[in-house]
Amino acid sequence: MGGLAAAVAAQGDGARVVLAEKAPTCGGAFALAGGYVWTVPTLDLYQTIVPQGDAALGRMLVDDFEEAVDWLREQGARFGPRREGLFAHGVGRGYRLEPDPVSAGIAPLIAAFERAGGRLSCEAPARQLLLDEETGRVVGARLGGPRGPRTVRCGAVVLATGGFQGDVELLTRYVSPWADRLFLRASSTSTGDGLRMALAAGAAGSRGLQAFYGHLLPAPPARIDPATFRTVALYYSPESVALNLHGERFFDESMADELTTQALARQPEARGFLVFDEACYREHVLRPHLPDGPVHDPLVVIPAAGGVVLRADSLADLAAALSAHGVPPRVAQATLESYDAAIAAGAPERLTVPRRKRLHRLHRPPFYAIPVQPAITFTHGGVRVDTACRALDRDGRPVPGLYVAGVDAGGIFYEGYVGGLAASLVTGLRAGIHAARVA
Ligand SMILES: Cc1cc2nc3c(=O)[nH]c(=O)nc-3n(C[C@H](O)[C@H](O)[C@H](O)COP(=O)(O)OP(=O)(O)OC[C@H]3O[C@@H](n4cnc5c(N)ncnc54)[C@H](O)[C@@H]3O)c2cc1C
Repeated sequence: MGGLAAAVAAQGDGARVVLAEKAPTCGGAFALAGGYVWTVPTLDLYQTIVPQGDAALGRMLVDDFEEAVDWLREQGARFGPRREGLFAHGVGRGYRLEPDPVSAGIAPLIAAFERAGGRLSCEAPARQLLLDEETGRVVGARLGGPRGPRTVRCGAVVLATGGFQGDVELLTRYVSPWADRLFLRASSTSTGDGLRMALAAGAAGSRGLQAFYGHLLPAPPARIDPATFRTVALYYSPESVALNLHGERFFDESMADELTTQALARQPEARGFLVFDEACYREHVLRPHLPDGPVHDPLVVIPAAGGVVLRADSLADLAAALSAHGVPPRVAQATLESYDAAIAAGAPERLTVPRRKRLHRLHRPPFYAIPVQPAITFTHGGVRVDTACRALDRDGRPVPGLYVAGVDAGGIFYEGYVGGLAASLVTGLRAGIHAARVA
């Protein structure tokens, strides 16, 4: 989304553009997405959900959103009706690319790009930026791939390589010592190339390099692939009680699935368990994740994917079943019983890890526990940028000729999240327009 939007926007401002894609086809995570192009309608809401985000970038996202969607529509993208109550605690608004992001978003953008004379090179990974030795200006890029190395000289470069979630080494450095246990719920080609090239050209890393967006997925032996990315995701985790391998609660799991996912990524072996009772299962788990979305019953879809759902008639028996997964049963039982006692007494603030919302008891059998593992969709940190999407150095000065779009542009999200496609679209447009001006 970031790269395509930047390329077409730059053409609109008169630039000639080479679009280099690492994979055999163009699309990245955009092609795997649910297709909801959405964000929150006000800066206040952005700051409530992403309190540590860069406020200037947050304002850009909120202010540019509707116009950016109109622009995408003008390029031939096809959207369903406007939707309210999306994600982010039900305060998100936006549109869904229909019937799917590939035919309704990616294909029209590629067609617009080619109509304007653009050249799309697939299997052409950017490997290195070319710098003018005297001025430090970015003046081109070296591309690799099966057709051999190639050098493109140009007036400006926009990096839009989609983040570093596909690179275990960078994830271990920035995100978690257990990074090799995280599932990758994204395209495997986003391996931090943009961040590495930008740092080598003198840009700085943004804040929040440890933060990411993701969801909990069933732990191995579950088989996870792009077809199950959305059907088996445990979006309902805020309704449950989350335990780590020690049998303890480690985070206020009632806040948001993406926040529990990040907290679990830093727990021992990045492995945990979601626990709920029959009442919670019927009233809260079996509810659609989105207002008009499908319900995926975990008791059906998780075993079908090879994953595990433990079931028992008492908390003591559930704790005993958890011991087969390496959890000390006495600790697990004590954690679950004291959780239920605190909720029953109306005193969730007295828990060692207080719970603020979704105060569901654990008292109606049967009880369920699902072994889970965090999955990373995209990294929140990246290259430091300003609102013209210029790459900035440590002193906040622009690296001349270098622009950044999409997930590579860090600081918009920081643990909290308000719409990845929207952020990539908005930064893509700004990066493309500003890059075209200097080029
Ligand atoms: C299962 C799933 C569901 C999602 N659903 C939604 C949703 O409904 N709504 C939403 O807002 N967001 C959603 N997202 C997130 C959204 O898809 C991403 O935030 C968005 O696509 C990021 O855009 P991008 O341009 O930064 O990266 P991408 O769309 O991933 O594109 C990056 C591209 O760069 C290429 N690349 C990498 N390295 C190089 C290199 N060295 N040289 C050249 N090319 C390179 C990659 O191959 C890729 O094609 C979802 C993601 C997933 C995985």
